[in-house]
Amino acid sequence: MKKEIRICDECYSEYYADTSRMGKLCPNCSHFLYGYDNCQHVFRNGRCEKCYWNGETTKFIESLKCKKMTFSETIEWLTDKSIEYKILFNKLMLFNLTIMNRTILDDNTITDKTKMDCLIQSNELAHNIWKLIFKLEKGKDDQSAKRLVGLIKFYQKKSKELEENITTTFKTTIGDFIFY
Ligand SMILES: [Zn+2]
Ligand SMILES: [Zn+2]
Repeated sequence: MKKEIRICDECYSEYYADTSRMGKLCPNCSHFLYGYDNCQHVFRNGRCEKCYWNGETTKFIESLKCKKMTFSETIEWLTDKSIEYKILFNKLMLFNLTIMNRTILDDNTITDKTKMDCLIQSNELAHNIWKLIFKLEKGKDDQSAKRLVGLIKFYQKKSKELEENITTTFKTTIGDFIFY
């Protein structure tokens, strides 16, 4: 019997209708957009044998996927990028840190003391990211991806407020980066 083939509304790939829980999305897009189980893709000749997806994805789906990466997956992902992209990523992180600082300042649920402590740590984090950027700009990439993730983990642990805010800022940076 011939399988029904549909076209995904998000990535425009063909897929087998019976492999997705959603009427107009391939299993891959329905996983990242709505949390349904993904197909355990098996690629042969440019297509998944199981769901017929062509492996192409949109930047939006890519950004959702990247935001779910663990720290070690993030290190691998960033290590593979060129020095130019690593510099860009670090700069985006600094840009988003300034937004994070404002969010902390505007937070009415925490004391001035806590705000001050967070901003001191955030300032140190920014200083350390600048150091990474200066090295990268000289063409020196001494495990910069691993170091950046190390910094994120280190400053996250400083307080509950920082843990939430730095995590959000880092994920936002990953999401922003995909669209550059
Ligand atoms: Zn799709
Ligand atoms: Zn598949």
